Amino acid sequence: MRKAIYPGSFDPVTKGHLDIIKRSSEIVEHLIVAVLDNPRKQAVFSLEERVEMLERSTTSFKNVTVDYFKGLLIDYAKLHKIGIIIKGLRAISDFEFEFQMALVNRKLNPGIETLFLMTNSKYSYLSSSIVKEIASFGGDICDLVPPEVYEIVRDKYCK
Ligand code: ADP
Repeated sequence: MRKAIYPGSFDPVTKGHLDIIKRSSEIVEHLIVAVLDNPRKQAVFSLEERVEMLERSTTSFKNVTVDYFKGLLIDYAKLHKIGIIIKGLRAISDFEFEFQMALVNRKLNPGIETLFLMTNSKYSYLSSSIVKEIASFGGDICDLVPPEVYEIVRDKYCK
Protein backbone atom coordinates (compact mmCIF):
# COMPACT_ATOMS: atom_id res chain seq x y z
CA MET A 1 0.00 0.00 0.00
CA ARG A 2 1.34 3.44 -0.91
CA LYS A 3 1.42 5.19 2.45
CA ALA A 4 2.53 8.80 3.01
CA ILE A 5 3.05 11.16 5.91
CA TYR A 6 2.38 14.90 5.91
CA PRO A 7 4.21 16.32 8.94
CA GLY A 8 3.97 19.80 10.42
CA SER A 9 3.19 21.95 13.42
CA PHE A 10 -0.37 22.74 12.30
CA ASP A 11 -0.61 25.49 14.93
CA PRO A 12 -3.41 25.77 13.74
CA VAL A 13 -4.36 23.91 10.54
CA THR A 14 -5.09 26.37 7.69
CA LYS A 15 -6.85 26.12 4.34
CA GLY A 16 -3.36 25.94 2.81
CA HIS A 17 -2.61 22.78 4.77
CA LEU A 18 -6.02 21.35 3.91
CA ASP A 19 -5.40 21.92 0.20
CA ILE A 20 -2.15 19.91 0.45
CA ILE A 21 -3.98 17.18 2.41
CA LYS A 22 -6.74 16.93 -0.20
CA ARG A 23 -4.38 16.82 -3.16
CA SER A 24 -1.98 14.31 -1.64
CA SER A 25 -4.84 12.07 -0.48
CA GLU A 26 -5.74 11.75 -4.17
CA ILE A 27 -2.22 10.53 -4.99
CA VAL A 28 -1.55 8.02 -2.21
CA GLU A 29 -3.63 5.24 -0.74
CA HIS A 30 -3.25 6.24 2.91
CA LEU A 31 -2.18 9.64 4.19
CA ILE A 32 -1.17 10.20 7.80
CA VAL A 33 -1.18 13.83 8.85
CA ALA A 34 1.25 13.95 11.76
CA VAL A 35 1.59 16.76 14.26
CA LEU A 36 5.12 17.31 15.45
CA ASP A 37 5.27 17.46 19.23
CA ASN A 38 8.33 19.64 19.62
CA PRO A 39 8.88 20.86 23.20
CA ARG A 40 11.46 23.38 21.92
CA LYS A 41 8.92 25.12 19.70
CA GLN A 42 6.34 27.02 21.75
CA ALA A 43 2.93 26.35 20.21
CA VAL A 44 -0.19 28.43 20.88
CA PHE A 45 -2.46 25.39 20.58
CA SER A 46 -1.77 22.26 22.63
CA LEU A 47 -0.88 19.01 20.90
CA GLU A 48 -4.38 17.67 21.69
CA GLU A 49 -6.03 20.78 20.23
CA ARG A 50 -3.95 20.60 17.04
CA VAL A 51 -4.75 16.91 16.57
CA GLU A 52 -8.44 17.53 17.22
CA MET A 53 -8.60 20.45 14.77
CA LEU A 54 -7.02 18.28 12.07
CA GLU A 55 -9.40 15.41 12.83
CA ARG A 56 -12.42 17.70 12.54
CA SER A 57 -11.16 19.18 9.25
CA THR A 58 -10.39 15.87 7.57
CA THR A 59 -13.42 13.71 8.39
CA SER A 60 -14.57 13.77 4.75
CA PHE A 61 -11.28 12.26 3.52
CA LYS A 62 -11.69 8.53 4.03
CA ASN A 63 -8.02 7.63 3.50
CA VAL A 64 -6.64 10.31 5.84
CA THR A 65 -5.79 9.70 9.50
CA VAL A 66 -4.28 12.05 12.07
CA ASP A 67 -1.53 11.23 14.53
CA TYR A 68 1.38 12.94 16.30
CA PHE A 69 5.04 12.14 16.77
CA LYS A 70 8.02 13.10 18.88
CA GLY A 71 11.62 12.86 17.76
CA LEU A 72 12.78 12.05 14.26
CA LEU A 73 10.21 11.91 11.48
CA ILE A 74 12.24 9.24 9.76
CA ASP A 75 11.93 6.93 12.80
CA TYR A 76 8.15 7.32 12.83
CA ALA A 77 8.03 6.68 9.08
CA LYS A 78 10.12 3.53 9.38
CA LEU A 79 8.06 2.20 12.28
CA HIS A 80 4.83 2.65 10.35
CA LYS A 81 6.24 1.44 7.00
CA ILE A 82 5.72 4.81 5.30
CA GLY A 83 7.59 5.37 2.03
CA ILE A 84 6.67 8.97 1.20
CA ILE A 85 6.99 12.28 3.04
CA ILE A 86 4.70 15.02 1.72
CA LYS A 87 5.77 18.66 1.96
CA GLY A 88 4.09 21.83 0.74
CA LEU A 89 6.12 24.58 -0.89
CA ARG A 90 4.95 28.18 -0.82
CA ALA A 91 7.87 30.31 -1.85
CA ILE A 92 11.63 30.36 -2.24
CA SER A 93 11.81 30.96 1.51
CA ASP A 94 10.35 27.47 2.15
CA PHE A 95 12.69 25.88 -0.36
CA GLU A 96 16.03 26.24 1.41
CA PHE A 97 14.88 24.62 4.66
CA GLU A 98 12.83 21.92 2.95
CA PHE A 99 15.72 21.13 0.58
CA GLN A 100 18.04 20.58 3.55
CA MET A 101 15.46 18.46 5.41
CA ALA A 102 14.78 16.28 2.35
CA LEU A 103 18.50 15.61 1.89
CA VAL A 104 19.05 14.87 5.58
CA ASN A 105 16.09 12.50 5.63
CA ARG A 106 17.38 10.74 2.51
CA LYS A 107 20.78 10.37 4.17
CA LEU A 108 19.14 8.87 7.26
CA ASN A 109 16.90 6.58 5.21
CA PRO A 110 17.36 6.38 1.43
CA GLY A 111 14.21 4.24 1.17
CA ILE A 112 11.91 7.16 2.00
CA GLU A 113 11.16 9.71 -0.72
CA THR A 114 10.11 13.34 -0.12
CA LEU A 115 7.39 14.58 -2.44
CA PHE A 116 6.81 18.34 -2.80
CA LEU A 117 3.46 19.78 -3.74
CA MET A 118 3.42 23.38 -4.94
CA THR A 119 1.02 25.60 -3.02
CA ASN A 120 -2.33 26.47 -4.49
CA SER A 121 -1.91 30.11 -5.61
CA LYS A 122 -5.02 30.97 -3.55
CA TYR A 123 -3.10 30.06 -0.39
CA SER A 124 0.47 30.97 -1.25
CA TYR A 125 0.51 33.74 1.36
CA LEU A 126 -1.08 31.65 4.08
CA SER A 127 0.71 30.33 7.16
CA SER A 128 -0.31 29.41 10.69
CA SER A 129 1.64 32.43 11.95
CA ILE A 130 -0.35 34.82 9.76
CA VAL A 131 -3.61 33.29 11.03
CA LYS A 132 -2.52 33.75 14.66
CA GLU A 133 -1.37 37.31 14.00
CA ILE A 134 -4.71 38.29 12.45
CA ALA A 135 -6.77 36.45 15.10
CA SER A 136 -4.80 38.08 17.92
CA PHE A 137 -5.88 41.52 16.65
CA GLY A 138 -9.50 40.43 16.27
CA GLY A 139 -9.34 40.20 12.46
CA ASP A 140 -11.56 37.87 10.46
CA ILE A 141 -9.90 34.52 9.78
CA CYS A 142 -12.98 32.93 8.24
CA ASP A 143 -11.41 32.53 4.78
CA LEU A 144 -8.11 31.29 6.18
CA VAL A 145 -8.97 28.23 8.29
CA PRO A 146 -11.32 25.27 7.73
CA PRO A 147 -14.88 26.03 8.94
CA GLU A 148 -14.68 23.17 11.47
CA VAL A 149 -11.93 24.95 13.42
CA TYR A 150 -12.87 28.59 12.91
CA GLU A 151 -14.51 29.01 16.32
CA ILE A 152 -11.75 27.17 18.17
CA VAL A 153 -9.11 29.50 16.73
CA ARG A 154 -11.20 32.64 17.20
CA ASP A 155 -12.12 31.73 20.79
CA LYS A 156 -8.47 31.20 21.72
CA TYR A 157 -7.98 34.94 21.38
CA CYS A 158 -11.32 36.10 22.78
CA LYS A 159 -10.78 34.94 26.35
P1 ADP B 1 3.45 26.84 8.88
O1 ADP B 1 3.44 27.39 10.28
O2 ADP B 1 4.50 27.49 8.05
O3 ADP B 1 2.11 26.86 8.26
P2 ADP B 1 3.69 23.90 9.29
O4 ADP B 1 4.84 23.23 9.97
O5 ADP B 1 2.39 23.75 9.97
O6 ADP B 1 4.08 25.40 9.05
O7 ADP B 1 3.60 23.37 7.80
C1 ADP B 1 3.58 22.01 7.48
C2 ADP B 1 3.82 21.83 6.00
O8 ADP B 1 2.79 22.49 5.27
C3 ADP B 1 5.13 22.39 5.45
O9 ADP B 1 5.58 21.50 4.43
C4 ADP B 1 4.71 23.72 4.83
O10 ADP B 1 5.57 24.12 3.80
C5 ADP B 1 3.33 23.35 4.31
N1 ADP B 1 2.44 24.52 4.18
C6 ADP B 1 2.03 25.35 5.14
N2 ADP B 1 1.19 26.30 4.65
C7 ADP B 1 1.07 26.05 3.31
C8 ADP B 1 0.37 26.67 2.23
N3 ADP B 1 -0.36 27.77 2.43
N4 ADP B 1 0.49 26.13 1.00
C9 ADP B 1 1.26 25.03 0.82
N5 ADP B 1 1.95 24.39 1.77
C10 ADP B 1 1.87 24.89 3.02
